[in-house]
Amino acid sequence: MPEIELDEARCTGCGLCVDFCPVEVFDLVKKNGRYYPQAVRAERCWACDTCVGQCPQGALRVIENASELEDQSGTGPQYGTSPMISDTEKQLCHTWSNSLIRVLGLRWNPVAINLIPVGTVMPNVAKPRQKLRFCQSLMAARRGKSFLMPANCHACPDGTHILGLTEIPPKLATGELYLRFGKLDSMEAAQHMIAERPLLAPRSIQATLVTPLKDAVLVPDVIAVIALPEQMMWLCMAASYYTGKRFTFKVSGYNAQCVETTLIPYTTNGINISLGCYGCRASSDVSDDLMFMGIHRERMPELIRGLDALGRKAIPDSRNKIYLPPQT
Ligand code: SF4
Ligand code: SF4
Repeated sequence: MPEIELDEARCTGCGLCVDFCPVEVFDLVKKNGRYYPQAVRAERCWACDTCVGQCPQGALRVIENASELEDQSGTGPQYGTSPMISDTEKQLCHTWSNSLIRVLGLRWNPVAINLIPVGTVMPNVAKPRQKLRFCQSLMAARRGKSFLMPANCHACPDGTHILGLTEIPPKLATGELYLRFGKLDSMEAAQHMIAERPLLAPRSIQATLVTPLKDAVLVPDVIAVIALPEQMMWLCMAASYYTGKRFTFKVSGYNAQCVETTLIPYTTNGINISLGCYGCRASSDVSDDLMFMGIHRERMPELIRGLDALGRKAIPDSRNKIYLPPQT
């Protein structure tokens, strides 16, 4: 259980931490004639730091207990000891990664994402040393890190339930928290936003796994590309190289990495684009000019063939600016 420290000298008893905690850890309790937040349900704490971020006085600190990131009992999940991806599949992931980086000129690794169902063997991949949001793990994977994250390694209550690791906390189910953040106009709008996103059954997924695509240890469910708009344009053209098809993407600004980059491709066997969300942009090192694409693994062979074809002429020609700007 994380430790929650309150600096009573700073606290004004405004109650913002109480209101914003998604899992209702605090009550305002009277002490010496004043009200202070008390962590009366501290066992629920996710260490998401929302209360810390909302406190105008800087009066709160949430300290994780690192030992909680370990498995809690001998009845925990089983971990694989032998390679869980064939040499051929591993080589394929390596080839896809090389093509994406070389043809598009990507700065960042494409990322392999797996949602590991309950009851299946998990790969032996390191867990993070501190709780991470799913979006933070994905951004770290683009820099070369690999993380296996069961529910107790996730720091975002919203993303964690969306991805099927836990139940949805009440304040997120009703949409109340979105209104408190000033992100939506009404409960009706919040309910609409929530209802439109895909959701996996609670506790159907035992862990998320992110690795650089070139280092995949499982056949990826979804491949994430983090790139500039011009590179995304070529990715879209690569995906429609053999069909000429135009895409309809589901984009919002909410739940970018868990929903738009991961779950939409995962549940539709398709491709989706995301502009990012306020959450992932605030909590990771991703720069303002980057956007995201999630590609179901079944879409990859054709997309890579299309990309390689574009890379032979269309991309280098266009990047040489064959259409000159008007002369003035
Ligand atoms: S860290 Fe998150 S879950 Fe824990 S008390 Fe603060 S807001 Fe609530
Ligand atoms: S938000 Fe900060 S100042 Fe307000 S009650 Fe909570 S700890 Fe105290």
